[in-house]
Amino acid sequence: MRPFTSIVLALCSLVGLVSGAAAQAPVRGIVNITGQLYRAQNNNHYTVFLVTPEGVIMSDPINRDFGRWLKAEIATRFKVPVRYVLYTHRDWDHASGGVVFADTAEFVGHRNMLAALAPPAGNPPLTADAVKMDANRNGLVERAEATGGIADRFALFDYNRDDVVSGAEIARGSISDVHPPTTTFTDRHTVTLGGKRVTMIYLGTAHADDSSVLHFPDERAVFSADILQVRRLPGGLAPTVGAWIDALTTINALDFEHALTGHALAGTKKDAADALRYLQDISTGVAAGIGAGRSLDEIQKTLMLEAYKGFERWDTTREAHIAAVYATLKGNLGASAGTR
Ligand SMILES: [Zn+2]
Repeated sequence: MRPFTSIVLALCSLVGLVSGAAAQAPVRGIVNITGQLYRAQNNNHYTVFLVTPEGVIMSDPINRDFGRWLKAEIATRFKVPVRYVLYTHRDWDHASGGVVFADTAEFVGHRNMLAALAPPAGNPPLTADAVKMDANRNGLVERAEATGGIADRFALFDYNRDDVVSGAEIARGSISDVHPPTTTFTDRHTVTLGGKRVTMIYLGTAHADDSSVLHFPDERAVFSADILQVRRLPGGLAPTVGAWIDALTTINALDFEHALTGHALAGTKKDAADALRYLQDISTGVAAGIGAGRSLDEIQKTLMLEAYKGFERWDTTREAHIAAVYATLKGNLGASAGTR
């Protein structure tokens, strides 16, 4: 490409970025759930916060820009500082930006967050997507080579700020703006402030290995990002459907009425029960198919899970979920057959 052409193209994409950003002001808002418990929105991400006379206990900060907005809203409306930030898990799109609250808050997360946030280690190869970006084939993605999510969040991937992203930085994830927890726990942890309580309960390995549900016993509410969903199927069932069943079983064992989520709709205890039932139905359905000697393709064509047809993602993820459960069950069957 001639230099002039590339400069014009670069300018065009800059203009596109600026006008695109201006056209899409984030959708933000705060709604009261019950008592002094609130749910706050940043586009399709949500967090929750509990106001007490001594300060606010909040969950995920989401990102710096939203955090600054929320901090100002809380100061104006409630005239108390944020005293606790309780992380649901480490993922960049929920946990970034906490530094905004670092002047007044203690940060609490599951112990596994620390390992996830540790500096990039080892020398893993680039992912398949990143290999496609690596035009000069030096095993790294330069800023100019990056596309998609790596381009959008380049600085969040680039842990050592050397303007190239390595395989280890990609494996660590775009979490460079996640403020580390100052307090960690293994099974459960209760925060008390101004006569209020919030308990964090570890959810095991579903989705990420550092996920917790927040339980507000007096408000009879739970908050979970990515694991608890209301009329919406999980994005994936990693690492196993069993881990997901364990996590949703832990959530459903709590006493609550309000099921608050990190994405999309909020709901009730019935919705949390539905989310667990979906996982059980897909598990037993796939197991029955395998037992009847059906192939994955046949199971995908017959196990329609019609009860969840109205759920977001049913049409786009049902077959992938069946494939994931099939692979897990086949793996287990193979392992147990070997020991029999
Ligand atoms: Zn996540």
